[in-house]
Amino acid sequence: PKKTFICLNELIDEIIKEFQELFSRVGIEIENRIKEIIFLHLDSSLMRQALINLFVNAYQAMPEGGTITIDACNDGDFVRLTIKDTGHGIDSEIVDKIFDPFFSTKDRGTGLGLSITASIISAHQGRIEVKSRINEGTEFAIYLPLK
Ligand code: ADP
Ligand code: MG
Repeated sequence: PKKTFICLNELIDEIIKEFQELFSRVGIEIENRIKEIIFLHLDSSLMRQALINLFVNAYQAMPEGGTITIDACNDGDFVRLTIKDTGHGIDSEIVDKIFDPFFSTKDRGTGLGLSITASIISAHQGRIEVKSRINEGTEFAIYLPLK
């Protein structure tokens, strides 16, 4: 990765803007709750791709609309960034496989989105976790080192 000191808030605002039209058409609301200004050493184009993959999955999990909530907080030496949707959720039987390359439950899924996201996060010395409940939604938490 080619890291520069970038403003995470700006990156997220840019991505939200790009998705705004599509989301409002299908009744998806985006709630950005991040209050602090967060600067991190990131490869901005890789991190953009990592986050876009999560947005696309959230979109696909909410065909009848819903809410995507984004938040961030400090957690020791890490920033904990969360992207939460109110979509169909992930069956506990398969949740351990979702980061595997080519694992997909979709008719035309490549199964590459989350594996790419996970490798980008690990290339930033971070990690990604998931919490999900069927019919309630899914939350991805990304931990990124502060230095
Ligand atoms: P793809 O989107 O091509 O299927 P991904 O790697 O992006 O591949 O995701 C793998 C699988 O994880 C999906 O097929 C889906 O079953 C599950 N998944 C990922 N994100 C979500 C989400 N936000 N809500 C529900 N299921 C999800
Ligand atoms: Mg995907």
